[in-house]
Amino acid sequence: MGVTRVAIAGSTGSIGVQTLDVVAASDGAYEVVALAAGSSSAALIEQARAHRPQLVAVADPVARAEVAAALPWAEVTGDLADLAGTADVVVNAVVGFAGLPVTLATLREGRRLALANKESLIAAGPVVAPLRAVPGAEIVPVDSEHCAIHQCLRASGRPSHEVARLLLTASGGPFRGRTLDELRGVTVAEALRHPTWSMGPKITIDSSTLMNKGLEVIEAHELFGTGYDDIDVVVHPQSVVHSMVEFRDGSVIAQLSMPDMRLPIAYALGHPDRATVPYGRIDWTTMSRLDFAAPDTATFRCLSLAYAAGRTGGTAPAWLSAANEVAVAAFLDGALGWADIAAVIESTMDAHDGAVPTSSEDVLAADAAARQAARTVLAR
Ligand code: NDP
Repeated sequence: MGVTRVAIAGSTGSIGVQTLDVVAASDGAYEVVALAAGSSSAALIEQARAHRPQLVAVADPVARAEVAAALPWAEVTGDLADLAGTADVVVNAVVGFAGLPVTLATLREGRRLALANKESLIAAGPVVAPLRAVPGAEIVPVDSEHCAIHQCLRASGRPSHEVARLLLTASGGPFRGRTLDELRGVTVAEALRHPTWSMGPKITIDSSTLMNKGLEVIEAHELFGTGYDDIDVVVHPQSVVHSMVEFRDGSVIAQLSMPDMRLPIAYALGHPDRATVPYGRIDWTTMSRLDFAAPDTATFRCLSLAYAAGRTGGTAPAWLSAANEVAVAAFLDGALGWADIAAVIESTMDAHDGAVPTSSEDVLAADAAARQAARTVLAR
């Protein structure tokens, strides 16, 4: 088998760095041909010197000039979409809506998209869907829950009409079991202390509000075509069962491992082959219990807001995700209380205009309108 060429958008982040770990452990199976980041020039330069990619993309112009000066042998661009044509697999590990051009360009190029950047799929579902029919285009999810479902469906090998429901597991985040009153004064540091996963700040806050699970419900709908009535969330604090598929005869297939994002990353890079290196192996001599519970949707209202946006469809998921980005950024800046994140999103959704996107321009316009609406709510 030849060497697989890999491009990593968001290489300086949590998923990006772990992708480079997987590449380093793969015994030459992968070659890094392109790297991209937002503005972390020093980290990007170090990665590029280690992997010698032909292309490096940097969104921020000042950081781009630094990177270009340090890497005279590389092509340095400002457009992350340029990564799409360079590789067999493009890992989209950018955080937030900024990942959209990578998702769209990779599918248009007919390449495999190893998708961590759920926000692009959520915002642009109706635009992404037809692109999956481009010859060679394929989405393999990196999000651990969706990777688990991908594996369960593959293990079953049965047609979709035999699937009864998808069960997305949720750790419950750092505030599981707390009441809204107890959560009013929580600090940014407390919200960033995730019990089972070490991740970038935005997804860690999303995990604390259960918005991450809400976004994942929409992501599951887009990836697997399952209706919202057939996607359920189960709180599972140990993060060992990564998700499950229930079939019409009541049988459930689950995928388990210790929490380690390198497993889904390696799965997406190597698909359909299994990685040769194990990640997150379970020691069954110490695995004494696995707990499950229903989510508390009264305290963690973001989950219900996401179901509602998903059911509305059109640009509603784009609005939800954009409003969430604005609210989370305000919380991280100390300008908004944790308990008000859901309120800001809910008020923003009241202004949603019900449009249906048919092009990437429509998606960009919806994102801009939602951000404007969210900022207006914040300023009240
Ligand atoms: P991080 O915040 O750790 O990293 C984000 C990456 O995106 C960085 O490389 C950053 O570059 C880059 N970036 C940020 N803004 C821009 C921009 N405007 N243009 C281009 N690049 C940009 O995030 P994570 O790795 O935690 O998450 C990445 C994605 O993966 C998210 O969508 C998240 O939901 C998803 N995900 C993450 C998991 C995890 O375990 N971390 C698990 C499952 C899904 P720079 O360093 O220069 O800012």
